[in-house]
Parts: sequence; C-alpha cells; structure tokens
Amino acid sequence: MEQPNSDKELLSEIEELRFQLEEAHETINAIRTGQVDALVVKDKTGHQLYTLKTADQTYRVFIEKMSEGAVTINRDGIVLYCNTRFAEMTDTPLEKTIGMPLASFVPDESKDKLEQLIHSSWEEDCRQEIILKDGGGKDMHCMFSCNTIELDSGMALSIIITDLSVLKETEKQLHLRNAQLEESRANTQKLNSSLEATVKERTHDLVISREHFKLLTNNIVQMTWTNLPDGNVNSYNQRWYDYTGKDFETMGGFGWKELVHPDDLKETAEKYARSLKTGEMFEVENRYRRHDGVYRWHLNRSKPLKNDKGEIIFWVGTATDIEDQKREMDRKDEFIGIASHELKTPLTSLKGYLQLIAGYKKEELPPIIQQYISKASLSINKLQSLINDLLDVSKIKAGRLEYALSDVNITNLINQCIENAEHVYPSYQFEKHIADTFTVKGNTERLEQVLMNLLNNAVKYSQSNKNVSVTAVKYGNNVRISVTDQGIGLSQDQQSRIFERFYRVEDKKNMTSGLGMGLYISHEIITNHNGTIGVTSEPGQGSTFYFELPLI
Ligand code: ADP
Repeated sequence: MEQPNSDKELLSEIEELRFQLEEAHETINAIRTGQVDALVVKDKTGHQLYTLKTADQTYRVFIEKMSEGAVTINRDGIVLYCNTRFAEMTDTPLEKTIGMPLASFVPDESKDKLEQLIHSSWEEDCRQEIILKDGGGKDMHCMFSCNTIELDSGMALSIIITDLSVLKETEKQLHLRNAQLEESRANTQKLNSSLEATVKERTHDLVISREHFKLLTNNIVQMTWTNLPDGNVNSYNQRWYDYTGKDFETMGGFGWKELVHPDDLKETAEKYARSLKTGEMFEVENRYRRHDGVYRWHLNRSKPLKNDKGEIIFWVGTATDIEDQKREMDRKDEFIGIASHELKTPLTSLKGYLQLIAGYKKEELPPIIQQYISKASLSINKLQSLINDLLDVSKIKAGRLEYALSDVNITNLINQCIENAEHVYPSYQFEKHIADTFTVKGNTERLEQVLMNLLNNAVKYSQSNKNVSVTAVKYGNNVRISVTDQGIGLSQDQQSRIFERFYRVEDKKNMTSGLGMGLYISHEIITNHNGTIGVTSEPGQGSTFYFELPLI
C-alpha cells in the first residue's frame, strides 16, 4: 500500500479498509452458511477468485457443524476456508483465520513437519499427528488428514483436524492404569508365591504334626478318639481297634454306644450330650466290652479343641483302663468294712469296762486313776468316731447309709453344736448369726455329724486365727448354714476335690491327722437330704463351708 499523504487520505483509507472488512465478514458468513460458492483472496500477486466447485450447501453446513476442524489451503499454504471449530481450536476470530498461512497456527518446532505433510499431500492423501497452538499458547495434539480438492481456480488441499487431546489424555491415563495394573499384577504374583511357600510349609508342618499325633496316640496305653462338634466320632487309635476287635465301619459315628455296658449307657450318653451342648469337659466311668466279651472299667475324658474365635473344631478323648484300680478300691473298701466292724465290738466292751471302772463305788479311786480314766475315755471316743466314719464310708459304698427322718429344729441343733465345740475347743471364739428359727426334714444325728465335722475342720485348719463364725439364713426355699474360719484356705483345684473319698490336701506345713473321710460323708448325708454342700475359699485367707437344706 502507498503512503497516505494527508489526514483526509488517511480517513478515506480507513473507510475503505472498514468497508473491506465488512465485505470479508459477509463473504465468510455467506460461505459458512453455503450462500456463495466462490471467494476472492488477495495475496502478493493481487486478488484471486476461488470457487468451491464440489462443496454444495449441504456439505458446507455439515462441515460447519462437525466437531473436527476443517481447513482448505492453497498451494502457498494460505487458509482459503475454515469452519468455526478450527477457529475455536486456535482461539482466533473466524474472519482472521482466512488468508492466514496455516503454518502460523502451529508452534515453530512443528512447522517443518507441517510443511513436509503438506508437500506430500499434494501427491497423495496423507495423515500425520501435528501440534496446533491454541489461543492460550498451549499445545494441542491433533491429527491432520489431508486430501486434495479441485477448485475452479486450481487445486486446493482440504485438511480435517481432529483434536487428539482427549485421546492423548485417555491414552496417558490408560498407560498409567496399565502401569498400575502391571505393578499390582507383580505384587499379586509376589504375594502368590509367598502364599504358595507358606501353604507348602504349613502343609509340611501339618503332615508332621498329624504323624506326630498318630504316633503318639498309637503308642500310649489309653484308647483315644476324636469326635466332631455334633458328636460323631471320626477317628480312633489302634489300641481302640485292638481292644474292641472292631473296625471303623462299625465304630465310627455313634457306633461306640454298642460297646458300653447296658448299665452304664444312660449316664454315659447323658454326660456326652451335655458336654457337646455346653462345651465342658466330658468325664465318665463306664465299662467297655472287649473283643472277647469281657467288660472292663474305663475312665473317659474328653476336651474340646477350639479355634481363634472360640468355636469347637473337634474333641479329643481318652479312655483309660481302670479295672485294676477299681478292683483294688473294692478290696480296700471291703477290708475297711470288715476291719471297722471287727474293731467296733472290742471297742464297745472296752468303753463299757471303762465306764464300770469310773463308776466303781466301793472305795474312792485315787485322783491319778480318775485322770487316766478320763484320758482313756477321750481316746476311746476318738477311736469310736474314726471307726464310725470308716463304717459310714463302707455303708455309703454299699448304698446302705440309712436313717430315719423327722422334723429337725436347725436353730437348736446349731446352738447345741456350738456349745459342744466351745467345750472341746476352749481357746476358740465361736460367733453365731441365726436369722430365724428354721425347721427341716432330716436326721438329727446325721446333721449334727455334718455340722460337727465342719466345726472340727474349721478349728483343725486355722491354728493362728481362732475366730469361727456360724450363720443360718433363709436362701430361697432353703436354709443355708455356713461355717467360716480364717485359716489356711484352699486353692480352686483343692476346692474341687475335697469332697472326694480319702482326699486330703498335701500340705506338709499344715498337716494334721485325718483320713479324708469327713467331707465325703458330709456330702453324702446332705445329698441324701436333698440338699447341697459347697465351699468358697481363698488360700491364706480362710474358708466358708456351707450346706443348704429345703425348709419345711
Ligand atoms: P480330714 O480333715 O479328716 O482330712 P475331711 O474330709 O474333713 O478330712 O477334709 C478333707 C480335706 O479338706 C482335709 O484334709 C483338708 O485338707 C481340707 N479341709 C477341710 N476343711 C478345711 C478347712 N476348714 N480349711 C482348710 N482346709 C480344709
């Protein structure tokens, strides 16, 4: 353009340019909406007319609506036409894009690539990834697909530009996910291998411990079994098969019941069922039939094996042959019965003679003789109570501990027993707390025997603190009589065994005379009175022995 000379010329120049711009706007609009098929582009060589030979209105509207950018360039790379999408992609006003070199929309580093693409595309259809600059200066990865088209003015290149940003981002995400996936796959594989190793190791341990268990159970003298929580027996040791002469086919599940002596089956089955229900240890003595038909006594014990959650997995049981011990015990009981019976007769006459001597009237007995007589009487009384206990034990064993029942005034009985104890143990303090007058159905002598036994023990096992208290209170429909001392006390384990026959705590420090019969007899007497007997105790603190009887 020539240099304008004056303001006037300048103004007319501006006016002309504005007119041209408006014209360009209209032209572009007309092309976009398909109203014209040709346009004039001014380049270095002057104005040139371009007609869009093949693009009819429908196609142009279609191109305008595409989500891809569409550009047509001439041989010089000048944009002859573009759609709105391209203008948006490059963030350039639509009217400014036309007439611009296409290369101005790509960054410098992509210019060569674009030039080569354009160059090749004049020969044949080509496509290539090229970066486009968006208005904000950011790079936008795009696919340039080039086709030549024939215009009236000559050949032109039509380029469809597809925004690959989303695709690229998706690819990037995919790549990232793939890497993460690969990493977790590697981790899983690592975990798998370590798990495999652990399983292998555990299986090995399991095989060893199973073999251990098998070896152990087959080598102990007891018969053993394992059963499931529902009671079905699922294994026996070899000794079981040797003893019974049966195989698992007949013994599995509940087949063992067939071998229990008919007299012992009820108790065995009941205790078995109770343990399965409560999870408490199963313990019962019963007779099992041997392969030759002989029954032998066994002590059965079974304990549950639990998992981390406390659920029972299975039970492990043992049956120990106690036939020989039983026989020994029976012989001992028989001997005790006979011996105590034999001892009773001479003791009775001894007591009688002593009474005769004490009552001798003809001449006064020297004091020393009188002293000897009372000492001899004391010893004879002790001996008699010992023999009575022995007789009671054998009677209990034979189921013959019988006595007549009548109404017993417990309050009177306690008062009497305490009086008695105060007389025998003058150095002890006996306290009593009787809430009311209580009457029960029972045998006075036997109940006195129980109470005296508890009082004697309270004294015997509390040598340093000499306070003993006796209470009687209503307990539901029962009366509860308790004897409390502050003596040596008993551990939990000892408490669970003291009512057994001949059981004595092995305590060398506090050993006193006794045979472990008193509490066994007391237990029998109270049970026969439909009552209960028990103990609460703390080692070193003292004990409370109590029994309860139903009130009339
Ligand atoms: P004995 O006293 O003749 O040994 P018992 O059957 O009366 O027999 O008692 C059994 C065992 O219970 C005793 O040997 C003793 O170890 C324990 N025992 C009984 N009473 C008490 C008590 N009051 N305090 C501590 N231990 C006791």
